[in-house]
Amino acid sequence: MERAKEILIYLKDKIVAGCKFLWKHIKRGFKKLRRWFRRYIRRLIRHTKEKDYSLLIYTIIAIVLFILFIVLIGKLFSHKNKDKEKTTTEITTEATTEDPAVAAQNQLISQANTIYQNNSSFMVLVNSTHPLQDGYAFEQYTLNCGEIIDSRIHTDLVNMLEACNDAGHEYAIVSGYRNKAKQQTDYDDTVATYIGQGMTQEEAEAEASKYVQKPGYSEHETGLALDIAGLGYTSLDESLASDETVVWLMNNCYNYGFIVRYPSDKTAVTGISYEPWHFRYVGVEAATFMHDNNLSLEEFYQLIGM
Ligand SMILES: [Zn+2]
Repeated sequence: MERAKEILIYLKDKIVAGCKFLWKHIKRGFKKLRRWFRRYIRRLIRHTKEKDYSLLIYTIIAIVLFILFIVLIGKLFSHKNKDKEKTTTEITTEATTEDPAVAAQNQLISQANTIYQNNSSFMVLVNSTHPLQDGYAFEQYTLNCGEIIDSRIHTDLVNMLEACNDAGHEYAIVSGYRNKAKQQTDYDDTVATYIGQGMTQEEAEAEASKYVQKPGYSEHETGLALDIAGLGYTSLDESLASDETVVWLMNNCYNYGFIVRYPSDKTAVTGISYEPWHFRYVGVEAATFMHDNNLSLEEFYQLIGM
């Protein structure tokens, strides 16, 4: 205890002595500076009186440079602070303006993923870059008209067609499931028709692929797609967009799990011309989601990152 006290007293004495020493030297330094300054001023006055202005000019230059230096340092600091403020404001603005949009998009993606998980067996993507898997099979159901569909969509299809009838419209099922051989025949026939109209093989194939897909690339091979027109239709073309039966189906099909697979505003995404008659089953939940968010099947897949 005694020893510790002694050490403390010793340290205190040393610190006090150090401070006194420092203060003495600072005072001495100030005195020297004051003396130098007085001498300098006297010299300046004397020189000016003798009309020697060189010292005065140097002094003015030195003062101006000093002021400039101070201003520069000041600006540099205020700039840094402004940058800091700006970044803070930017972050706050970004946070307030972007968050709701990002949150909404994330919610949409998560909703789409859930829908896909619940309906994946109905959501198979078939287009010019996604051929149907080899050996794709399903339980077939033959409709009264002779067309074949995937048996799982039968109830929803019947409900939709009955509702269409109830609304006062008569329909004709033009085409349901097509096997590979039938798809090949349809494709070859279409190409032959275009060649008959004077197109080259290449031109005819390009034109045909806008309407009929090569075997393995058509939705009709899944049993989930149907071409439906108004009763008494003459051909499958864009005029069907104003056919009252087709209009009713286009407006209501999502309630029964069907989507208008090739809409007029999505040709760039689907790669297929407008086909108001082509309905594709994806399930009620998915069809409603795509209808409400104006998404094609391709865009739905983009949304879930597949
Ligand atoms: Zn079709």
